[in-house]
Amino acid sequence: MSSVITTVEGLAALLAAQKSAFTAEGAVDAAERRRRIQQVIDLLVAWHKPLAAAMDEDFGHRPQGFSLMNDVLGSLASLKHARDHLEDWMQPQERQPFAPYDQLGAKARVLYQPKGSVGIIGTWNAPLFTLLSPLAYVLAAGNRAILKPSEIAPRTAEVLAAACAEHLDPLLVGVAVGGVEMAEGMTRQPFDHLVFTGSTAVGKAVMRNAADNLVPVTLELGGKSPTIVSRSADLATAAFRIAAAKAANGGQLCVNPDLIYVPREQLEAFLAELKGAYASLFPQVQGNPDVVAVVNARHLARVEGLVEDAIAAGVRVESLPEASAADPQDRRRPLRVVVDPPADRRIQQEEIFGPAMVLLPYDAIDAVLADINARPRPLALYWFGTDEAEQQRVLEHTLSGGVTINDAMMHAAMQDAPFGGIGASGMGHYHGREGFLEFSHARTVFEAGSYDPRREWGLLPPYGEHFLAA
Ligand code: NAD
Repeated sequence: MSSVITTVEGLAALLAAQKSAFTAEGAVDAAERRRRIQQVIDLLVAWHKPLAAAMDEDFGHRPQGFSLMNDVLGSLASLKHARDHLEDWMQPQERQPFAPYDQLGAKARVLYQPKGSVGIIGTWNAPLFTLLSPLAYVLAAGNRAILKPSEIAPRTAEVLAAACAEHLDPLLVGVAVGGVEMAEGMTRQPFDHLVFTGSTAVGKAVMRNAADNLVPVTLELGGKSPTIVSRSADLATAAFRIAAAKAANGGQLCVNPDLIYVPREQLEAFLAELKGAYASLFPQVQGNPDVVAVVNARHLARVEGLVEDAIAAGVRVESLPEASAADPQDRRRPLRVVVDPPADRRIQQEEIFGPAMVLLPYDAIDAVLADINARPRPLALYWFGTDEAEQQRVLEHTLSGGVTINDAMMHAAMQDAPFGGIGASGMGHYHGREGFLEFSHARTVFEAGSYDPRREWGLLPPYGEHFLAA
């Protein structure tokens, strides 16, 4: 059987074959799980250069050093963490049987068993990471998988499929290559679990389709990652770290800062620091080998459309660095900073996911919290400052998938802690023990003792009157 699938019928056949192999084999031990994860690590080590070159090609320009750091080392971090901890995570847990059986020789335990075959649908923006990081935890839990790379990064999909064909048994990990039809077809299959990374709108469609087969879903979606610069923050540090985080992947990460709340009286000083910070990273953007391009003309037009919609309302927009005549063929673009747009502008409502951000001046921190809480729950929230009471207030009065304090995005890079969204930014987790649990079935096993007290204690028919007297 080929590990590269190009039709929905082929996908259904591979899934059926994986399920049969899973049932025949039973739950595999820790050593076998480690061996399987190691095969994926070996694949990445052998193929990292062609994969980085493919990502460069797909984006029009993506520094290979960035791809190695973000997608290859990011995935390796997940694979190694899962490999090194899975034996601990998979240990059965002893539990207390209920009375009186606990006194009568009964025992109970919870087994963390694999679910079977997991479908993993990835995005173009981190085309390896969104497939291989969840795969680490899927394999740690003893499952099999079929990966569906994004059609917007077709060269990466092709190279990954070739790498998987060389290193992995399709009955363990297969790759389904194709567009929306394949992705949609995947959500209609009776997988034992689906992991979807992508937009909130498509996430809803995925969940609707999965419901027909009662397939549990992990949804890793997007959002507007609000970023609060407290009055207690060091402005230069906050500006530099926000600039560096926004620059990552050309602003095309699900956890890039998007809405930045700045004390009103510090707005100009913050903007000046941001300009200096951005210039220190990128003196110019077009032709700069360190800048990640916007992935395609459609996404560039979408991001420019958000900025133009604000400009049409007379909103101030700064360009970092200053815009020069743009070469339309080069999609490396300056960061557009949109200052205080009205709430009804599209850039206030839609995830930007590109080289633009919004600065929102504020007077009172409670108004910031009210604004955040009036919006869909975000994937990430950032707070910069030293005022611990304010930090506590922000943590207690908001919700988000995760939080980084005095920086941005760092929590998402952790392996020893869950990563996931809440509300419109998703559900479920991968990374850490929680990632292992997400792809395991917690199965309770009650083992009866030899002495059965039920007849003697009146717990079997005829029940008589004694419960009425109790
Ligand atoms: P997208 O939703 O357009 O596509 C994602 C995947 O869904 C692709 O593989 C695509 O083929 C597939 N797809 C498209 N239509 C489908 C359908 N009807 N049914 C099933 N699958 C379908 O997202 P994108 O543009 O690739 O990625 C950008 C979005 O992903 C942003 O919102 C970003 O925030 C989010 N994202 C989230 C995370 C996270 O970990 N939470 C990580 C990266 C990106």
